[in-house]
Amino acid sequence: MPLKELAGFLIKLADKLLENRDELGMMDCVDSGNALNGMKGDVDWSSDSLKYFAGLISEIKGETFSEKPGHLNFTRRQPYGVVAKINPFNHPLRFCAEKSAAALAAGNTVIVKASEQAPLSSLRFAEICEEILPEGVVNVLTGGAICGDAMVRHEDVRRVGVVGSVSTGKIIAKAAAEDLTHVSLELGGKNPIIIFPDADPKKAANFAVKGMNMNRQGQSCSSTSRVLVHKDLHHEVLKEMKKLAEDLPVGLPWLEKNELGPIVSEIQYKKILNYISSTKNEGADLITGGEIPKEQELQNGFFIQPTIFDKVTMDIKIGKEEIFGPVMSVIEWDDYESMISLANGIEYGLTAMIVTDNLKLAMETAERVEAGYVWINSTGRYLGAPYGGWKQSGFGQEECFDELLSYTQIKNVNMRW
Ligand code: NAD
Repeated sequence: MPLKELAGFLIKLADKLLENRDELGMMDCVDSGNALNGMKGDVDWSSDSLKYFAGLISEIKGETFSEKPGHLNFTRRQPYGVVAKINPFNHPLRFCAEKSAAALAAGNTVIVKASEQAPLSSLRFAEICEEILPEGVVNVLTGGAICGDAMVRHEDVRRVGVVGSVSTGKIIAKAAAEDLTHVSLELGGKNPIIIFPDADPKKAANFAVKGMNMNRQGQSCSSTSRVLVHKDLHHEVLKEMKKLAEDLPVGLPWLEKNELGPIVSEIQYKKILNYISSTKNEGADLITGGEIPKEQELQNGFFIQPTIFDKVTMDIKIGKEEIFGPVMSVIEWDDYESMISLANGIEYGLTAMIVTDNLKLAMETAERVEAGYVWINSTGRYLGAPYGGWKQSGFGQEECFDELLSYTQIKNVNMRW
């Protein structure tokens, strides 16, 4: 369809999401257990993404050159056709809407598979799309692995975009390989925050705890779950982190005063409690949390206190495995090279955070750390800034112009007259 018309559809959809902000936010809050404010923020992000990619549509351009007189070579970028999107549970609406935006803007249709844990807002998104978009452009499925696998293997699906765990990403990449279907993978993380000795301990602790995304109970791929702190600041940073963690209100997620709601499912809840109990036996020091909160009204939900372990090493499971829960591991370092080995010595490479006012150290560390997205004395994400993993955290950059182009295929036309 004409580009102006396509962009118009996406902008209408973006506005419609904002009109339904309260409902969509509340759906994600009750379905996933994440704090209401954050889930309303996800509606804003989804709307912004649709507008961002709508604005970039006319930048999907080819290249031209002439090899000799009477000759023109040019490239076109064409959509794949049907794109399958497979989503996790932690940002239900956001991943449904935001992760469809680039594929739609590039002229594809999408089939989204919502997480089996939190499908409600995706179904509501489908209803909203029905009011605005032509029939069949956005399709939403619910279901688990069997459903996702059937999508990946379907002969009409030419492009697959996955957000999920490393183990799921590997299975999907293998299935996609059978038909050589183009797949992009946004997978898990076990992300270091590196605190240098010149840092302000209060600020550093604040970055560490804020970076955990506790309003999603730490169920966030970009969470700063490995705190690599220099030995000179270890004591002070830990003391501040403990205070901050203990001040975080745990409770019913739709009450605005609360920061942490329940864990998404019983399976995930038990997995986190198992990590906590095995870490106690593996020799790390429990600094705070690690328990189910005492309040009576929280006894029947999957609530866990914000938890900090100190003296974690790479021999302890939580030193290197993604927990996807409100659990932070503090690891002390002394020598720069051994800190870099700690930061890079895991299979993941999603994000890293660096806290120092020493520009040279910050830049050198940003260069050496094996991660796709690095913060220096900063937090948050912005549309236009490429987000994606290195190593087993996946491949393919999102939230940026490259994502838009990744939903097109290049055709070269070699013409003589
Ligand atoms: P998951 O891997 O269990 O499931 C993700 C999706 O894959 C679900 O929709 C699931 O039904 C589907 N699925 C599972 N097996 C499949 C198969 N064989 N074929 C096709 N589809 C299949 O992940 P989760 O528990 O829902 O989410 C948590 C994970 O997602 C964490 O590892 C987290 O780090 C990651 N994540 C990554 C990003 C990122 O941007 N890098 C963002 C959010 C979450």
